[in-house]
Amino acid sequence: MRLSDQEYNRLLLLKKLRASEPVARTDLVALTGLTGGTITAITADLVNRGIVIEEKVASSSRGRPRVNLRINPSGKYVIGTTATGDGHALTEIVNLRGESLGVSTAKLQTATRIEDLAGQFAAVLENAISGWQVRREDIFRIGVGLPGIVDSRTGSVEQIVTYEPGPCDFGGIVSRALGIPTLVDNNINLLARAEHWYGAGAHAGDFTLINVDLAIGAALYRGGQLISGAHGIASEFGHTKIVPDVGRTCFCGARGCLQAYCSVQAIIEQSCERLGRVPPSYDGMNACFDELLREHAAAEIDIWPVLEQASHYLGIAVANHITMQDPEAVIILGPPVAMMDRLRGTFFAALEQNTFPALRRRTKLHFKFSDKSAYARGAAAMVLEHVYATS
Ligand SMILES: [Zn+2]
Repeated sequence: MRLSDQEYNRLLLLKKLRASEPVARTDLVALTGLTGGTITAITADLVNRGIVIEEKVASSSRGRPRVNLRINPSGKYVIGTTATGDGHALTEIVNLRGESLGVSTAKLQTATRIEDLAGQFAAVLENAISGWQVRREDIFRIGVGLPGIVDSRTGSVEQIVTYEPGPCDFGGIVSRALGIPTLVDNNINLLARAEHWYGAGAHAGDFTLINVDLAIGAALYRGGQLISGAHGIASEFGHTKIVPDVGRTCFCGARGCLQAYCSVQAIIEQSCERLGRVPPSYDGMNACFDELLREHAAAEIDIWPVLEQASHYLGIAVANHITMQDPEAVIILGPPVAMMDRLRGTFFAALEQNTFPALRRRTKLHFKFSDKSAYARGAAAMVLEHVYATS
């Protein structure tokens, strides 16, 4: 879903203001490239809505005092929340500048219906809001991030692993329970938003983020906007084919998906097959992965072939992506094991060999550790983008 020109201008202006504040209206002309008339119209509306405040600064020469603009740091809030991989809801409240004012975690009960998960999120948010003693009318919107297939335009959830299939009007359930408009998106999109707003390359508008966790996924920022696709569903990078027709079966039903080789879940399952062990249930995956890596490091077991193959296939998949998309940068979030020299060597060899020659070594590549708190920050950033862009 692309923003309209008007929405894009509003978002651009607020991002520039956030990065450079306090600034005068006249400075925004150079910062944004927008005309003075457009800036006057947008800022008048933002001041009216309480998103931007004016500060009069005494002028050194006689004449009218200079008026600086700032994003209103108090009085209005947004909330981001997400389901973590270990069965908790992580919730964060931020002001309109994106500064964190509080974080809360709560245990989620095991459920099989997505509707029940939505009801639990409503209860968790209710508790968090009363704990922070914030007036409900001062919360602009709530953003929820989920590890599943989400139509971000409607807040409808199609599928979450271990739950009965949707669709479920997740956003509607939370919104009606709390009386606060609620947006829902896929967790990978939220990680990309967190990277765009808060990462080392903050305000970098052109990158692909690949997240290697229990599942594997990707999100794309182009021209300062998250690309969410014609049907509101994020890029399903993990289900592109790396061993077509004859490969391992993926949970999506197809064969040979990247997910079936390179995700943490697939690494665990392949390791267990090699070792003749029974793979753990979904809830036990993270603990099992830690234990496998500990045994591997202690030379009690050897899972190099599984790890090497995952690195090799990931290198090919990223090469295909670069060849097709020519992104400015690719950011790979993954578990610490991905940083091992031997696996990085395998990854880069596959990347080099399979990238179109003219694009080789031109794309910036960054490896980073996953950070659970990035999901809630990303959810808050999604709401900020929405608040900023819409009138
Ligand atoms: Zn698949």
